[in-house]
Amino acid sequence: MTQQSGAPGLEDFRAEAAAALSAFAPRRNEDRAQWGVGDDRVSVVAERSEGEAEELAALRRYRAHLVEHDLGWVDGPAEFGGRGLPAAYAAALREVESAHDLPDDGYLRFSVSTLTPTLLAHGTPEQQQAWLPRLRSADLLACQLYSEPGAGSDLAGLSTRAVRDGNDWRLTGQKVWSSGAHYSDVGLCIARTAPDRPKHAGLTTFLVDLDSPGIEIRPIRQLTGGASFDEVFLNDVVVPDSRRIGEVDDGWSVVVTSLLNERSAIGTEVGVDEALVERLVDLARHAGDGLDERARDAVARVAARAWAARLTTARFLEDGGVPGPELALSKLIATDLFREMSDTAADLLGAGHVVDSGDWGTYAWSELTLGLPGLRVGGGTDEILKNTVGERVLNLPKDAR
Ligand SMILES: Cc1cc2nc3c(=O)[nH]c(=O)nc-3n(C[C@H](O)[C@H](O)[C@H](O)COP(=O)(O)OP(=O)(O)OC[C@H]3O[C@@H](n4cnc5c(N)ncnc54)[C@H](O)[C@@H]3O)c2cc1C
Repeated sequence: MTQQSGAPGLEDFRAEAAAALSAFAPRRNEDRAQWGVGDDRVSVVAERSEGEAEELAALRRYRAHLVEHDLGWVDGPAEFGGRGLPAAYAAALREVESAHDLPDDGYLRFSVSTLTPTLLAHGTPEQQQAWLPRLRSADLLACQLYSEPGAGSDLAGLSTRAVRDGNDWRLTGQKVWSSGAHYSDVGLCIARTAPDRPKHAGLTTFLVDLDSPGIEIRPIRQLTGGASFDEVFLNDVVVPDSRRIGEVDDGWSVVVTSLLNERSAIGTEVGVDEALVERLVDLARHAGDGLDERARDAVARVAARAWAARLTTARFLEDGGVPGPELALSKLIATDLFREMSDTAADLLGAGHVVDSGDWGTYAWSELTLGLPGLRVGGGTDEILKNTVGERVLNLPKDAR
């Protein structure tokens, strides 16, 4: 990507971003006096449904503010509204963002971190022009329609069918665990187009309008009480060929690009989100009778590992930001780090971890704990990711399939 002339230095850029963000939301109080103030939610995957509409509206306002200040897509191509700066500037913006109380951007994880790079790699120029600026500004919200009741880890075994009908396709099947389908405008859907070909070779991807006739979206209730993902039924849904992403029967390469980017995003976010580590440090300061040696050790270990996780992922992305199979390791590290955070919080809180006393910032940690099993499964299970690392990073013999 060509960098725009007159690019600011990194420090000037940081100052510019900090000024723009301060105009939207105040900096988090660094002396940690914020204990007891505001929302005490501790969550890494969307686990609650109440307040969703308000959160989405706030997020849209924030994204519009970023676009207005030329910060909507710092490392994106200028022809799609990006600023054409190197990836280090986008990382700098994330760092600046982590110092402010901003709307939850989990709603955009798929649109921005997964679909955007996938469209850059596989979309036609017309598709890129039509969708990329809208995805970045949160004007268009997207979800992923991959998993099915009979196809998860072995995604290529999916059954949803797409049959050509002139300039259109007709899609029929069922998707499941589709995060955010109920608030999304479009879904990246993979379907079987050549049933007679080997399973990876007969698949095609489409960006489907979720208000199309024949689509039914049903929420799935979760352990935490929320319903952040859905079942999506497709019954003879007409999708124009202009909505096809990539070549006919080559949908698998689109899926591989998107999954690599998804894992990279999960790995990157944990490293960057210092706020969660700070929350744990705050909890240690406020819980029980103060910090004993054991608690101090546990919290310090989490903080050091979070820092190391961030540097590890940054190193993986050093070569221009294209994620490879080693990003599976980033997600594995992130997941294990969240487990350690949850265990440490549970130790610090004792019964307060499972009984809601009404005390700010205590029982709230149960949401992280209850969300952990989902984190270990979504975006590739731990077992599948270990296979990826073994086979594609360490070149070990292939898993028996
Ligand atoms: C929070 C969350 C969000 C999600 N969001 C989405 C979404 O937006 N869109 C979407 O399409 N899907 C989504 N999913 C679904 C997710 O991608 C699948 O659940 C996942 O791929 C696993 O598939 P499965 O549930 O069918 O389990 P299975 O594939 O049936 O696996 C069951 C168990 O067997 C193990 N296993 C399977 N194969 C192997 C193997 N070869 N070697 C060793 N162990 C193996 C797995 O690790 C797992 O423990 C989400 C899931 C979660 C939890």
